[in-house]
Amino acid sequence: MNDIVSKLEEKMPVRLNEPMSRHTTFKIGGAADVFAMPQTAENVLFAVSLCREKNVPYYIVGNGSNLLVKDKGFRGVIIRPDLKELSIDGNKITAGAGTMLGAVARLAADNSLTGMEFASGIPGTTGGGVCMNAGAYGGELKDIIETVKILTREGEIKNISCEEAAFGYRTSGIMKTGAIVLETVFVLEKGDKEAILNKMNTLNTQRREKQPLEYPSAGSTFKRPEGYFAGKLIDDCGLRGFSVGDAQVSEKHCGFVINKGDATAAEVLELMEKVSEKVMEKFGVKLEPEVRVIGE
Ligand SMILES: Cc1cc2nc3c(=O)[nH]c(=O)nc-3n(C[C@H](O)[C@H](O)[C@H](O)COP(=O)(O)OP(=O)(O)OC[C@H]3O[C@@H](n4cnc5c(N)ncnc54)[C@H](O)[C@@H]3O)c2cc1C
Repeated sequence: MNDIVSKLEEKMPVRLNEPMSRHTTFKIGGAADVFAMPQTAENVLFAVSLCREKNVPYYIVGNGSNLLVKDKGFRGVIIRPDLKELSIDGNKITAGAGTMLGAVARLAADNSLTGMEFASGIPGTTGGGVCMNAGAYGGELKDIIETVKILTREGEIKNISCEEAAFGYRTSGIMKTGAIVLETVFVLEKGDKEAILNKMNTLNTQRREKQPLEYPSAGSTFKRPEGYFAGKLIDDCGLRGFSVGDAQVSEKHCGFVINKGDATAAEVLELMEKVSEKVMEKFGVKLEPEVRVIGE
């Protein structure tokens, strides 16, 4: 591992034994052996190639807003692509994987471009959001994507179209093939700046009213099962406020598991398992986690 670390350090900022609780919105997670922050596409490729060559496990993160890292942390290298390109050309915005969706949405609004309001309150990066096909209030990122620059598993950097990215509900071909998002071109429409800002404000007020934003979480814990709402099923099982240690089904929104203070990943996972069991028992519906779980 020392060999890898010194090679990475030549090209990018690196932290050792880095607590992942600092890099997840759940504020949970043991330490990663190595946390590397490449700032160019070439250095993302360098980090990934090095890990592959040395047979060291690696995992890509964005803002950690859909991530649960287990309590003993991650053996290997966490790579966070800090690609911060953000530019606009007519009705198109090019955003590096490390730019926050909120910042892209704000740039769109400032330039009277409509179509991205739905994403302004999603606390993830463009890379994580595109990979997950993040969505809210009837919109999904796939609706506004023209092309995505990816690094394939085979080590090729290339542009793919929205169709080639094979987006689905909270998933994509990018995620399934283990490719990495480097940059995304969003295509938006001319609109009225005040109306765009008003819509963003309204949606974000709605979020604050309905979601437990005052507690650390990873957003919706489970995917929406077809024909149902996870939060409603959980509520109808009488599990509002149900806790395991400091992990709790939010009293405000049953679709969220929150960290009341010092929750561990083990507590969150036990809570998720108990909730899934109860929902299966009562309604025969299988809840699938939306949150990505890594580590040991
Ligand atoms: C309060 C709150 C509200 C939320 N509301 C919503 C919502 O309305 N809609 C919604 O869809 N989500 C929501 N989320 C979940 C989360 O914000 C989104 O899924 C977001 O897109 C994740 O982005 P991230 O950068 O944090 O990714 P991370 O959590 O860091 O990673 C998520 C997944 O993406 C992968 N990934 C990250 N970066 C890249 C990359 N560059 N290339 C390839 N793969 C990558 C990771 O490997 C992982 O599998 C919410 C979360 C919170 C905490």
